[in-house]
Amino acid sequence: MTGRRAQLAANLARVEERIESACVAAGRKRADVTLVVVTKTYPASDVRLLAELGVRHVAENRDQDAAPKAAECADAPLTWHFVGQLQTNKARSVAGYADVVHSVDRPRLVTALSAAAQRAGRELGCLIQVAFDAESGRLGERGGAAPEAVPELARAVAGAEGLRLGGVMTVAPLAGPYAGHPGEAFERLREISTRLRAAHPAANMVSAGMSSDLEEAVRAGATHVRVGSAVLGDRPRLG
Ligand SMILES: *Cc1c(COP(=O)(O)O)cnc(C)c1O
Repeated sequence: MTGRRAQLAANLARVEERIESACVAAGRKRADVTLVVVTKTYPASDVRLLAELGVRHVAENRDQDAAPKAAECADAPLTWHFVGQLQTNKARSVAGYADVVHSVDRPRLVTALSAAAQRAGRELGCLIQVAFDAESGRLGERGGAAPEAVPELARAVAGAEGLRLGGVMTVAPLAGPYAGHPGEAFERLREISTRLRAAHPAANMVSAGMSSDLEEAVRAGATHVRVGSAVLGDRPRLG
């Protein structure tokens, strides 16, 4: 094994152990939690190694980095997740490679993604990103819709050609009442997910938890954890 491959394998094994323990502690099945490895800022060669090591879900947060990486790894058996703030003018590119967009937070983006998915002849899974630090009706600084906006956005996604409503996503807030308490934010996301599923039973994905708080997310019912630095190492720059 090359050094990088061995390092990624060791990191993956540690993350796998953490997810496994968190599942045991929460009385959940390991199979009910999907590990999505966030490869942002790392090269396509790392994505390939991860695929060889058995990773099946990867995520990126910037289209300009993700598009060439996805193209380079097109032959690997990977599901691509887009988790960053998304401008409507990037929807067409993202619809070309992404299978799931976790960051749907406004009606205009729903319209743009729907048009892009139809044009690409693909179906895009969409998660509504909920921001617990957003003021009522306003988007959070890192994207995300206010909790009150979720039902209407969900209806828009569910009614849009080319899109499939997958569920909800959040990033633990750095400001506001939930700062420093990711578990409480994740519990609120669980409540929002429960209400969403009452209206849209198939929208059962709950994307929450990163390297520092995946245990809290698993405890609060996350079905997808998005782990970057714990697998790939600390990022050289903010990404
Ligand atoms: C970078 C990123 C992650 C992964 O964060 P780590 O702390 O590196 O695990 C998860 N979700 C989103 C939206 C991200 O941008």
